[in-house]
Amino acid sequence: MTDPVHPESSLQAAFLRHDATLAPSNRMPGDDDSAVYRTLLESTKAIPWKIDWATMEFAYIGPQIEALLGWAPSTWKTVNDWAERMHPDDREAVVNFCVAQSKAGTDHEADYRALTRDGGYVWLRDVVHVVRNDNGDVEALIGFMFDISERKRTEEKLAQLQRELEHLSFHDSLTGAGNRRMFDDVIERAWSAALESGNALSLIMVDIDFFKSYNDYYGHLQGDACLQRVARVLGEAAGRDHFLGRFGGEEFVLVLADTEAHAAVNVAERCRTLIAEEAIAHVRSPHQQRVTASFGVGTIVPTSRMDRTAFINLVDAQLYHAKENGRNRIAAVDRAGMQGEAFKSHSR
Ligand code: GH3
Ligand code: MG
Ligand code: MG
Repeated sequence: MTDPVHPESSLQAAFLRHDATLAPSNRMPGDDDSAVYRTLLESTKAIPWKIDWATMEFAYIGPQIEALLGWAPSTWKTVNDWAERMHPDDREAVVNFCVAQSKAGTDHEADYRALTRDGGYVWLRDVVHVVRNDNGDVEALIGFMFDISERKRTEEKLAQLQRELEHLSFHDSLTGAGNRRMFDDVIERAWSAALESGNALSLIMVDIDFFKSYNDYYGHLQGDACLQRVARVLGEAAGRDHFLGRFGGEEFVLVLADTEAHAAVNVAERCRTLIAEEAIAHVRSPHQQRVTASFGVGTIVPTSRMDRTAFINLVDAQLYHAKENGRNRIAAVDRAGMQGEAFKSHSR
């Protein structure tokens, strides 16, 4: 049995014994081994450099820089060459940061895009160590540049995936309109904004007429295609200023911030016209055998005593009136009517 604690019998002891008999050339490099250091530095992927603080000139930069960026080591003369070979969008912030950190004598690191000789850019991470003399004065900056382009590509891909995921979670996959979750978000914000600004907020609810019979006659897939066409024209009418969402099934909703009643009715009219112009055949519809929709429109200047859900329900009630009165039409309440109603339903 060997004694694990006793040095003579341990692995450690084996190393110790070996160490004691090492030939000088096998030891770690010492003061007189600068050639070894140089070989080590120049064979790593990280690119070493040194800048003299007094002159702001490169005292050294590893030859690997040429393979990475195309600029020969001899062309790295001053700190200006470093700054000028930086992407203009990164330059100011990175230079200011590095200057401030260096002056404060703080080790630091910075990521930026370095210009290549052929006009491209490579993402670098510069890790900087501030060297001081015995008096504590900054003497030099030494550091390593790392090629982090692969990592940046991965980060960008992740960010892109993140954006896609976010888009998916807030949009209806069939029509591309905002989904119910997004509508809830949008109406909540629009309501708060209107509360603050005192501007009118309008809402349009849209429901395709006789859509069940459309599905029955043309089939579900064509029903889907019809929903996509209707969503596209509604999106056109909504434009960039207004939000279009799919409220559910064959119902859509438009949120019109800072929009008075007459302007909201105009948008609803435009929706109705554009659907008519789309001329989607619907043999079971009494309205010229074309797909039509009904619209409920409401406008409100919210106060803190009013309820958002009551407002939505009131607009929904308008839509119901439009259906009751024959479909393919718009029913709207103006601001005054809505104010009273919204207040009433809240206080009930
Ligand atoms: P009204 O004029 O009163 O609105 O009658 P309607 O037939 O349009 O209303 P109803 O609510 O009875 O029918 C809605 C239909 O919408 C029923 C359902 O099959 C259809 N629908 C809901 N979502 C989808 C969908 O994603 N794709 C398709 N193809 N159909 C859908
Ligand atoms: Mg419906
Ligand atoms: Mg319907």
